[in-house]
Amino acid sequence: MEKKPFLTLEKAKEIIKEIPTPFHIYDEKGIRENARALNKAFSWNKGYKEYFAVKATPNPYLMKILEDEGCGMDCSSYTELMLCEACGISGSDIMFSSNVTPVEDMQKAYEMGAYINLDDYTHVDFIKRVLPSVPKTICCRYNPGGVFELSGSEDKVQVMDTPGDSKYGMTEEQMEKAFIELKELGVEEFGIHAFLASNTVSNEYYPELAGILFELAVRLKKKTGVHIKFINLSGGVGVDYKPEEPRSDIAYIGEGVRKKYEKILAPEGMDDVSIFTELGRYMLAPFGALVATAIHEKHIYKDYIGLDACAANLMRPAMYGSYHHITVLGKENEKCDHMYDVTGGLCENNDKFAIDRMLPEIEIGDIIYIHDTGAHGFSMGYNYNGKLRSAEVLLGEDGSFKMIRRAETPKDYFITFDYSEFDL
Ligand SMILES: *Cc1c(COP(=O)(O)O)cnc(C)c1O
Repeated sequence: MEKKPFLTLEKAKEIIKEIPTPFHIYDEKGIRENARALNKAFSWNKGYKEYFAVKATPNPYLMKILEDEGCGMDCSSYTELMLCEACGISGSDIMFSSNVTPVEDMQKAYEMGAYINLDDYTHVDFIKRVLPSVPKTICCRYNPGGVFELSGSEDKVQVMDTPGDSKYGMTEEQMEKAFIELKELGVEEFGIHAFLASNTVSNEYYPELAGILFELAVRLKKKTGVHIKFINLSGGVGVDYKPEEPRSDIAYIGEGVRKKYEKILAPEGMDDVSIFTELGRYMLAPFGALVATAIHEKHIYKDYIGLDACAANLMRPAMYGSYHHITVLGKENEKCDHMYDVTGGLCENNDKFAIDRMLPEIEIGDIIYIHDTGAHGFSMGYNYNGKLRSAEVLLGEDGSFKMIRRAETPKDYFITFDYSEFDL
């Protein structure tokens, strides 16, 4: 599908007058509409709730918008829990899906009344030791091992991941033992969680995963006699980073999960099970963009455009070779007849937002819009080469804009050591 910026050059210029580039900008209208469509797709399930994966975009303003649309929050660390606290989010509105969990993190989740999702069998004993009491509801994370594969049209493999190589979750035997021991410790209600594949561009991923987890739930219920309260399909629904990729059809996905529910859970009298999701990317990626200015051009063996943003602002291309679509604002309708590498200024040759990309001719000062940075964008930022994290801006539904995080300054960079004795 054609990729269109949610920002015009005119609006970008108006913002840049107050907030210099680079910055990440988020589209409130898109975020709200998308969240509503998701909730509608799963409205057949009475207890349905999306727990937004905070790690994707840990900004309290965005978390409040999602909360307003009925979402809870999925956290995996102490500071992510603190972010929820700052937003006034607590109790069963938080899912705590951590791994390699420190004692303080587990205790914080318990104090806040979050749903605790155990990543490992040894965590049964761990919570017995470190928590004042065992919570009434506990979730356990499942790992089926092996390879997870989904074929699309013409039997082409569409989704491939290898749970057998992943560090998360428990085997079925461990799940069974954990449920029995937790029940003896006084746990009354149970959840099941699994994350088998990331950024899936197939409408069949969630239904397939749901089928696997629903069948597991039936087996576990029969073997252990526990009451299963919820099944958490976690994250993994993908977005169309590339123009030629299909867009996930959330209504179709919700309906696919419903069919599995009717087929597998309902006949077992388990039609009181709530469906939870923990989407990050799907909730925000398309509704965020990195806005930067072209500050340098260079012609050697290839043609380069250098931006005032770098991989420290958006790590995905450098880390995973990810594609992010690029639009030169104001040149949307010009011919893409120039081939460029679009780079940042890190002393790392993988600091490239795009390689051999066909774009309109770019001039110094052009405003470059990098698409789909709303999730796992700003949040993966770092300070390599003394680069500072950018500002974050919210584009309101009425077209107004607001800075929702200021850019770092050198003072922020130096704040973790006492440099008073150096003459800086
Ligand atoms: C990262 C993560 C998510 C969100 O994944 P997306 O790919 O952004 O949807 C959800 N749950 C857990 C436990 C995660 O680690």
